[in-house]
Amino acid sequence: MEILHVSAECYPVAKAGGLGDVVGALPKYLIEAGHLAKVVMPMYRTKFLYENQWEVVHKAGANLGNWWFEYTVIREKTNKLGFDLYLLDINGLLDREKVYGYHDDTERFISFQIAVVDWVSSWKHHPDIVHVHDHHTALVPFMLKYCYAYQHLAHIPSVLTIHNAQYQGWVGWDKSHYIPHWDGWRWGMLDWKDNINPLASGIKCANKVTTVSWTYLQELRQMSNGLEALFEYEKGKCVGILNGIDVDVWDPKSDTYLDKHYSTKNCDKGKLANKTYLCDTFGLDVSKPLIIFIGRLVGEKAADLLPQAIGDAIHYIDGRMNFLVLGSGEPDIEHQLATMRESYGLMNYYNSMIGYNEKLSHQMYAGADFLLMPSRVEPCGLNQMYAMRYGTIPIVRKTGGLQDTVKDVGDPGGYGVTFLHATVGEITTAVYRAVTLYDDQERIADIRRQIMELDFSWNRSAQQYIDVYHSVL
Ligand code: ADP
Repeated sequence: MEILHVSAECYPVAKAGGLGDVVGALPKYLIEAGHLAKVVMPMYRTKFLYENQWEVVHKAGANLGNWWFEYTVIREKTNKLGFDLYLLDINGLLDREKVYGYHDDTERFISFQIAVVDWVSSWKHHPDIVHVHDHHTALVPFMLKYCYAYQHLAHIPSVLTIHNAQYQGWVGWDKSHYIPHWDGWRWGMLDWKDNINPLASGIKCANKVTTVSWTYLQELRQMSNGLEALFEYEKGKCVGILNGIDVDVWDPKSDTYLDKHYSTKNCDKGKLANKTYLCDTFGLDVSKPLIIFIGRLVGEKAADLLPQAIGDAIHYIDGRMNFLVLGSGEPDIEHQLATMRESYGLMNYYNSMIGYNEKLSHQMYAGADFLLMPSRVEPCGLNQMYAMRYGTIPIVRKTGGLQDTVKDVGDPGGYGVTFLHATVGEITTAVYRAVTLYDDQERIADIRRQIMELDFSWNRSAQQYIDVYHSVL
């Protein structure tokens, strides 16, 4: 089977979150399973572009409404990622350093999707499946089915994976002419509540829709930023498939970002060495449990609750722990988490690094005792899986993928600390449970070994995607 992934992110080329990790890993596992998987993404101006060798495979032009643009598709020459990687360039739109956050993101991603469909229509053969990811590429199924110029592609089945349904890519109907000449009777396949809603369109038009965990799929029917009724209506074509993690990249035995490697056999010693490095670097006390937070500093991750929850935990649990936060996001939260460093009473208990730092994130997964994820919404969550692979015990709110991957220590066979509501009180209580657990070092050692051996690899999930592909062929 030949599968073409169309995505806005792909690690290590460009990544803003979990989407990049998934698109960077899944194709490799599809290839291992005997299929042909390719990725096409925008040609941002990232380091990866300048450090690798490329060949031009296609040049053409298309229209975004009345604006004619030219696009170029280049292919990475050495198969560095283990699959064919194509970058699509549109001068003036995609030649930016960041993935998202520009005033013309609508124009950028619609023109990217038009160019992808146009490029595929020039192939001598057709892919068996087009797999699109999130709203940035979710108009592709519509374009394949209902744009007159691409009718010869209408038979290609498409699969949409929703990594995050909060963002839907809403576009006003005044921009409907951006989409290449399409069958006007099908306007309902674009519309949701009087806007063009690319994510809703993808859900309606794709042959199958997957979400990145089972619980998230159930939750979307209750709460999905306005799409609840659509998820209910389309539930027959929706499937939850938990993300895997790339166990080659995320391996404490060989992680290139770590100086001290370790395995289940010497994890206590190995983690202590990494923890000592972190505590020395950030002025923290190595004898206390180290609790970390890594992620986007946004409401979805309940990052707004962190300043108070951390302050309360330190004050009410007698400073029996350290916190280290790595993240970037909303300026307000960034500011609070940065200035807390200086506040009286938190010194030596708390530190933070505001920004995106891949290396430090690996060092933190390796050196921490606990990872805190109080997320309000968590479609799958990769952090908790990375943490567990590095022997770091998760403290998570029971939601989405966190619920599907973390079992509470109070339950038979459990290995994490879970809580129900995203409130300061429940976070502080969960931290208290973790700190108490830490006093029992034998139990901690057992749990570390147990979580490091859990299988979160892609093999199982990749097989589930293959089953989905077969079901639409
Ligand atoms: P989301 O995609 O919602 O942001 P996930 O848990 O699915 O959350 O994936 C987050 C990924 O991004 C993980 O690989 C995590 O380590 C990484 N990450 C998030 N913020 C940072 C940061 N500030 N520095 C380094 N890595 C980060």
